[in-house]
Amino acid sequence: MNSMYMSLTNAPSKQASLTCKNISPLDSYFKRCQASKPQFTRIFFQVSKRKKLIVCQVNMSAQSTAGQVIRCKAAVAWEAGKPLVIEEVEVAPPQEMEVRLKILFTSLCHTDVYFWEAKGQTSLFPRIFGHEAGGIVESVGEGVTHLKPGDHVLPVFTGECGNCRHCKSKESNMCDLLRINTDRGVMLSDGKTRFSINGKPIYHFVGTSTFSEYTVAHVGSVAKINPAAPLDKVCILSCGISTGLGATLNVAKPTKGSTVAIFGLGAVGLAAAEGARIAGASRIIGVDLNPNRFEEAKKFGCTEFVNPKDHNKPVQEVLAEMTNGGVDRSVECTGNINAMISAFECVHDGWGVAVLVGVPNRDDAFKTHPVNFLNERTLKGTFFGNYKPRSDLPSVVEKYMNKELELEKFITQQVAFRDINKAFDYMLAGEGIRCIIRMDA
Ligand code: NAD
Ligand code: ZN
Repeated sequence: MNSMYMSLTNAPSKQASLTCKNISPLDSYFKRCQASKPQFTRIFFQVSKRKKLIVCQVNMSAQSTAGQVIRCKAAVAWEAGKPLVIEEVEVAPPQEMEVRLKILFTSLCHTDVYFWEAKGQTSLFPRIFGHEAGGIVESVGEGVTHLKPGDHVLPVFTGECGNCRHCKSKESNMCDLLRINTDRGVMLSDGKTRFSINGKPIYHFVGTSTFSEYTVAHVGSVAKINPAAPLDKVCILSCGISTGLGATLNVAKPTKGSTVAIFGLGAVGLAAAEGARIAGASRIIGVDLNPNRFEEAKKFGCTEFVNPKDHNKPVQEVLAEMTNGGVDRSVECTGNINAMISAFECVHDGWGVAVLVGVPNRDDAFKTHPVNFLNERTLKGTFFGNYKPRSDLPSVVEKYMNKELELEKFITQQVAFRDINKAFDYMLAGEGIRCIIRMDA
C-alpha cells in the first residue's frame, strides 16, 4: 500500500491507474491523498468482472496553479456590520517570503466580529476577515525554504520571523516583524494586497484572511503541523483555544492538585479550564456573570461555579472563603477590568499567581493596593498563551493527537462556506463555542 500511496502523491502525469485487492484501505489512502494534494479533483473506483481487482483512476487538474493568479470564492466584508458577500476574487501568487494556502476549514472568533463591526476599531473595507483556520500550502514565494506545496498548516494572526530579539528570546512570542497588526490591510513586503476583484484591491486582516478558498500569508505566520491531524478539528488552535490553554499551561502553571479560578467561560476561558484539567488541578472554579455557561463548563473540568451577581460582597472575598485564603492560580478571560482586579485579589498570598488574558477597554486602569504584591502575589499577562506560533503550535496539535487535549467539545456548530453569515449570527446570539466553516461546501 505504501508504494501505491507514494506513486499517487508523486504521480507527475495527469492520470494515474493503480490496482489493489482491497477497497477499504484504499479508500482511506485516497482521502489522505486528496487532503494533501488539493489538485486531485476526482477519484473513480471500478470493480472488475471477477470482483477481485479494483481499478482506480485519479484525475488531476490540468496544471499546477503555482505562479498564476487563482480565481476563487471569498467572503468579502464590503461595509462594517453588513453581511459578508461570497464573491469571486483574484488571489495573486505569493511574493518573497510568502506562501499561498488553500484553506479547507476556518472558524469564527470574536476578534473577527469586533473588526467587522468596527465600533471604535480602525475601519478598513472591503476586507476579507478570518484568522482561525487549517489549510494546505498551494505554492511558495521566493526565499521560502521550510514550507513546500502540500504541507498541512495553521495560519496564525501573529507571526514568528525567527530573527528578531523576541524570536531569539526563549521568554517572548511577541515578534517585532510579524506581531499582530489589526490596522494593516496589505502585505509587508510591498504594501499591496494579494486579493482583488476586477483589479480593485481587497484588504487583508491580521495577515491571514482565511474567509477565502485561497489566501496569501507571510511564511512566518504559518505553522507547519502533523499531516495526520484532522484540519477540521485542529483549525481552532490558530487563536482563542491556544490562547486560553497556554495562559494556564505556560504562564499560570498550576501544579497537580492545586485550585484554579477561571474568570469568564467563553471559548478562551474554557480552554484555560481545559489547561487546568490537563495540569491535574483538583478544583477548577468557573466565575461568570452568565449562569448559562456553567453546565457546558463542566465538560472542561470546572468543578464549581461562582456568579458574582449572586453575592453581596466582592467575588474575591467569596473565593477566599471557599478556598481557605485564596486560589493558587487564577486566569482572567473576560476583558472586564473589574474581573481583572478580582482575579488578582483572589489568589493566595505567598504563592498565588494571576494571569490576565482579556483585552481591556482603551481607558481602563488597573487599581489594587500595592500590599497585595508585597504579600507575594504575582500578576502576569499573556499574548497568545505565550506560544511562539511556528515553533510551538505543532506541539499543541500533538497534545490533541495523543488525546491529552480534547478539541471536539469546543466545536458546537458547522456551516457551509456559503452560509458563513450564520456563523456570525451564532456568535452574536452567544450560541455555542466554535462554529467550523467548511470551505468545500
Ligand atoms: P467571550 O465573550 O466568549 O467570553 C467572555 C465571558 O466573560 C462571557 O461568558 C462573559 O459572561 C464573562 N464575563 C464578562 N464580564 C465578566 C465579569 N465581570 N465577571 C465574570 N465573568 C465575566 O470571550 P472570549 O472569546 O472567550 O475571549 C475572552 C477574552 O480574551 C476577550 O477579552 C478577548 O479579547 C481576549 N483574548 C485575548 C487574547 C490574548 O492573546 N491575550 C487572545 C484572544 C482573545
Ligand atoms: Zn520575530
